Amino acid sequence: MKREHWVKGIESFRNVTFKKHEREYRELVKKGQSPRALFIGCSDSRVLPNLITSTGPGDLFVFRNVGNFVPPYKPDNDYHATASAIEYAAFELSVEEIIVCGHSDCGACKALYEDHSAHEHEMIHTIKWLELGRPAKELALHTVGDGDRADLLEATEKFSVIFQLQNLLTYPNVRKRVMEGSLYLHGWYYRLESGEVEYFDPESQEFLPLERDES
Ligand code: ZN
Repeated sequence: MKREHWVKGIESFRNVTFKKHEREYRELVKKGQSPRALFIGCSDSRVLPNLITSTGPGDLFVFRNVGNFVPPYKPDNDYHATASAIEYAAFELSVEEIIVCGHSDCGACKALYEDHSAHEHEMIHTIKWLELGRPAKELALHTVGDGDRADLLEATEKFSVIFQLQNLLTYPNVRKRVMEGSLYLHGWYYRLESGEVEYFDPESQEFLPLERDES
């Protein structure tokens, strides 16, 4: 049975982790959730928001999609999963922070440089979705060039985070709350190979290590 290989992990969670935090978890059911931040990350199986921030239940409202992209505000009659998560977090849950977290070795950013025309049918939604990474690709090619592939990819991944932050500001309620100072936006870059997180510093326009301020 396909179910079998999940049983061990689920039992272990229930008998060890859940048991250890049982009171906290029950309290969260009684009080309801009131997460501090909306975390928009990539669906990549190696990017685990709670793991990399050492957070637990109730701390983060998480939305993950291919490439951690944020489509611009588009109030039509279609189904918009990312937009709905943003709206719900910013309006209903009144989160104080939104984190857009890109990462190294991102398949979505790599895919921006691949030709998918042979799989147009099987990848129809992905091909469309990847358009959200195009401005980052263009800027990376313009500033870094295609001489060093690793540099090009890292630049694409990082520029993309900045473009997605800009897209976040197209949401009227996000923009309003950012302007009035009740909502703060973070752009992060997670390095799979070292576990380090860098943040986008709007002043220097650079990604800097996210670490304790020693001063
Ligand atoms: Zn990714």
